[in-house]
Amino acid sequence: MRLDIASSQGVRSTGSAAPILTSEKINVIYPLPSGDVPAVVDFGIDIGEQEFVGLVGESGSGKSTAALALMGLVRPPGKIVSGEVRFHGQSLLSKTDDELRDIRGREIGLIVQNSRSALNPLLRVGVQIANVYLAHHKASKAEAMQRAVDSLETIGIPDARRRANSYPHQLSGGMAQRILIAMATINEPKLLIADEPTTGLDVTVQAQFLDALQTRVRESRSAVLFVTHDLGIVAHYCDRVAVMYRGRVIEEAGVRDLFANPRHPYTQRLLASSSNRRQSFRERASGTPEQ
Ligand code: ADP
Ligand code: MG
Repeated sequence: MRLDIASSQGVRSTGSAAPILTSEKINVIYPLPSGDVPAVVDFGIDIGEQEFVGLVGESGSGKSTAALALMGLVRPPGKIVSGEVRFHGQSLLSKTDDELRDIRGREIGLIVQNSRSALNPLLRVGVQIANVYLAHHKASKAEAMQRAVDSLETIGIPDARRRANSYPHQLSGGMAQRILIAMATINEPKLLIADEPTTGLDVTVQAQFLDALQTRVRESRSAVLFVTHDLGIVAHYCDRVAVMYRGRVIEEAGVRDLFANPRHPYTQRLLASSSNRRQSFRERASGTPEQ
């Protein structure tokens, strides 16, 4: 079976790509009675135009906290104690909540892990997606609703108009997850930060969403930071990968380099423990064995 590696060049850093987001020395703690838990330690990642960057590591390694910290959104009692994040050169961590909210809906899309509770139980999901569009565009409600339906179709929701009329409690977990994806992507953000957004989705649906995302990243000069534990997805879609272990990025490399020559012993173990899964994303998605 051959390795299912993305057809990208797998550059190590943003290099020639214009940077969209740069960050350094982010430290996040969770204060507990027994002492502060350093959840993220000196974290930094740079993301350039047209890059699909993966963030991997075992559960508890700090991926979700780091992804939220990039947007200044660590939930209390968690606290960002230091760090710098620049988005198109503007410092994000010094912005007010209102300024961050504006950037978040429009220029940076965020899909938080296990965020079904972010859906308002009292509103039809189509209205909720359309509202994200209306918050940042001058458009009629009908136009916004059409956008919402289009975005649901893009991520493979059959009978999208009917689905748009559903309330959250009428949807399966996978369907609710796709609503959240639609909300995070409807404004075509320059950067999408997505924390395990496809976990729990049928693999064919995952492939449809990831293919569309990859095409958009390449064609619209946007970028993605994709948090996942699925090394098959990393191998197939990511250009570059950062590996977290105990709150730190312990290795960062182009995806080809990482799979061919993992340097850190933890990365070697991570790859070894999932060698079957990383080889077969396309196979899983198509249901046909690779040559
Ligand atoms: P990952 O996404 O890689 O699974 P997390 O960012 O969720 O990792 O967690 C990183 C560390 O922070 C873990 O040690 C976790 O126990 C701790 N942590 C996360 N959320 C909280 C919280 N609300 N309170 C206390 N500790 C937390
Ligand atoms: Mg997580």
